[in-house]
Amino acid sequence: MIRFDKVVKRFGDVTVLRELDFHVKPGERVTLIGPSGSGKTTILRLLMTLERVTSGTIEVDGRYLSHTRRGDRLVPADEKHLRQVRKKVGMVFQQFNLFPNMNVLRNITEAPVRALGVPRDQAEAKARELLELVELADKADKHPSRLSGGQQQRVAIARALAMEPEVLLLDEVTSALDPELVSGVQNLLRDIAQQGNLTLLCVTHEMRFARDISDRVLMFDQGQIVEEGDPEQIFTEPEHQRTREFLQAVL
Ligand code: ATP
Repeated sequence: MIRFDKVVKRFGDVTVLRELDFHVKPGERVTLIGPSGSGKTTILRLLMTLERVTSGTIEVDGRYLSHTRRGDRLVPADEKHLRQVRKKVGMVFQQFNLFPNMNVLRNITEAPVRALGVPRDQAEAKARELLELVELADKADKHPSRLSGGQQQRVAIARALAMEPEVLLLDEVTSALDPELVSGVQNLLRDIAQQGNLTLLCVTHEMRFARDISDRVLMFDQGQIVEEGDPEQIFTEPEHQRTREFLQAVL
């Protein structure tokens, strides 16, 4: 479903990802952990096409993300191709990133209506279902500024799901929340992850959440994977010294 093949990403002189190879199977839930600056967010931003690879390739569902195949050559993708691939991928950000000038319902319906051409009444019906799911059915007419951080993040989750993505990316989704709101959002995401066929890629510094939500954990350091395994193994018997040091520091 997701395949990184020798992906290099540089920002100027700084190499953030070094010939990174990994893949995520359809429906698999994978969490990326590792020290600050190890390149985790960059991976999600590449998948959202918010950044371009320096070299190497990324595939989502068998399609190259930033390239298209012409004969046996790969050429940079055009905007039409990028739009197609982007539809498969949804993301929830640390800072919610809701549209402040739109009410909750409009925040959720805007992308399906504009990017997918879904009729507005259909998009609204779906948005109301999603608001039930995230337990905010009574907030449809409110603007984001009237909601708590936890409620705003629930709207952002509903907004991402409204696009019916195949891949959902979660970038530190609870780190901007007040501590008492964290577990509600985490439980919601755990339920969504367990119900659906979504492929999930999650970046978090919350190890309990990583353990709850994932089938597999990838430990990053300096733009490379130093260790991977199921959560039980990584959190109880990490093999790599770097993983042990990291877990000692954060647990
Ligand atoms: P954190 O856990 O702190 O979010 P991270 O593992 O997600 O860290 P990234 O955000 O992917 O790390 O950043 C990796 C490195 O790339 C950092 O050194 C960062 O300063 C650098 N970087 C990221 N985006 C840019 C950019 N647009 N321009 C220049 N450098 C960048």
